[in-house]
Amino acid sequence: MAKHFDYICIGGGSGGIASANRAAMYGAKVAIIEAKALGGTCVNVGCVPKKVMWHGAQIAEAMHLYAKDYGFDVDVKGFNWSKLVENREAYISRIHTSYDNVLGKNNVEVINGFATFIDAKTIAVNGEHYTADHILIAVGGEPTIPNVPGAEYGIDSNGFFELNEQPKRTAIVGAGYIAVEIAGVLSALGTDTHLFVRKESPLRSFDPMIVDTLVEVMAAEGPTLHTHSIPKQVVKEADGSITLHFENGESHNTDLLIWAIGRHPATDKINLQATGVETNARGYIKVDQYQATNVEGIYCVGDIMEGGIELTPIAVKAGRQLSERLFNNKPEAKMDYTLVPTVVFSHPPIGTIGLTTQEAIEQYGEQNVKVYQSGFTAMYTAVTSHRQPCKMKLVCAGADEKVVGLHGIGYTVDEMIQGFGVAMKMGATKADFDSVVAIHPTGSEEFVTMR
Ligand code: FAD
Ligand code: NAD
Repeated sequence: MAKHFDYICIGGGSGGIASANRAAMYGAKVAIIEAKALGGTCVNVGCVPKKVMWHGAQIAEAMHLYAKDYGFDVDVKGFNWSKLVENREAYISRIHTSYDNVLGKNNVEVINGFATFIDAKTIAVNGEHYTADHILIAVGGEPTIPNVPGAEYGIDSNGFFELNEQPKRTAIVGAGYIAVEIAGVLSALGTDTHLFVRKESPLRSFDPMIVDTLVEVMAAEGPTLHTHSIPKQVVKEADGSITLHFENGESHNTDLLIWAIGRHPATDKINLQATGVETNARGYIKVDQYQATNVEGIYCVGDIMEGGIELTPIAVKAGRQLSERLFNNKPEAKMDYTLVPTVVFSHPPIGTIGLTTQEAIEQYGEQNVKVYQSGFTAMYTAVTSHRQPCKMKLVCAGADEKVVGLHGIGYTVDEMIQGFGVAMKMGATKADFDSVVAIHPTGSEEFVTMR
């Protein structure tokens, strides 16, 4: 006989764990089903290992680009990639233990295995059947590999985190968050790194000020950027190296190829058709503003939902809001997908909230948009022979100059923008920003002193 729960979350990643814990805190009988490791993409092959590698890269940069001019006689004898990986994985293992403990404390039953639907109320895992009044689908996504001959000679971001040795030469194909972040890490750690993008630049959806500055820093520090490069074929050479051939007739020989061309939803393997849940043509699950699918009692959050934003805090917040609604008698609780702050852990980091200049013009009309901008050399690098730019922008709309876009690239921008997100959510205007006394000397003071 099937074991029955109030709530089953399929997928023990960011969205599933957050939602399961919140529901259980309100007394619901909850199970979470995870096929691989608790924590999902973010903890195991995403945010966490990426950020650890990024910190490693920051240390390398400090030693190679800046330490000497700060008076340090640094003699770097070497870099032990496997040591960093070992410490990173030990940290991830501690996160697993802590997640396990919290789920246990909340009496959430953790079921290890791959879930498939039998019908809209029944799930099969390892031959056992489970039923629930409410079911959350939070199975996330997977890296996409392009359909070109020889694509199998490349690895994806999951494979990047399996590398036990530092590659000497790497080619990365893609222009989004993952391509830019991995390329930046490898380049800073000393791998000869080449980034290939299909069009004129990486991160094309970001404000042009960000993109131009990133490209300028890449030219100065690496990785080597190749634009208008669409892969046509990949060839494995007799010496074990890999040659990438592009539609523009060019080719590039490397030791390691990483595909970072986007991700796709993991809906295809869970027998979703047995439920009647609707997806779009690309397999993303359709939900309403309360995360409900078209089938009563089935919900969806995170990377797998149509029209979402593929970020951990989005999956977490949407999952918690759903549990507030279902198990804490808050019928109006729902996720607000507007003004989401986001950071790209590039070199230097990028922070952005809200509209680009162009998006603001399209939304409010050119005459109603005013842009404030600031550019300077980050003080951290102003005393060294290697300089790095820092650029910031406020996009304001209407007579009261409401801040509808905030963008920055430069040293520590990643840690600057969270609080400005609060201000923007509260509807802050340029005058509100200016009313705050600056913290000096910092980079973030520019956001409250722009003219
Ligand atoms: P996931 O975290 O992917 O969890 C889904 C889980 O479901 C997985 O554990 C999977 O094993 C499990 N699963 C799948 N199918 C089944 C099944 N049938 N049965 C049981 N279990 C199943 N976001 C940020 O906010 N900041 C970052 O810095 C950041 N960096 C990233 C770096 C990389 C390289 C990547 C790939 C992503 C990054 N992200 C980042 C995005 C973030 O990881 C995702 O948005 C987030 O993990 C989505 O959460 P989720 O719950 O939707 O899915
Ligand atoms: P993405 O959608 O950000 O970027 C994919 C890129 O690949 C696009 O620029 C696209 O133009 C390019 N591309 C697509 N098909 C291609 C092809 N055939 N050949 C060459 N290029 C191709 O996807 P991603 O980088 O895989 O990241 C997925 C999501 O994960 C992101 O959108 C983001 O939401 C999240 N993420 C967040 C962070 C962070 O918060 N710091 C870090 C990593 C990932």
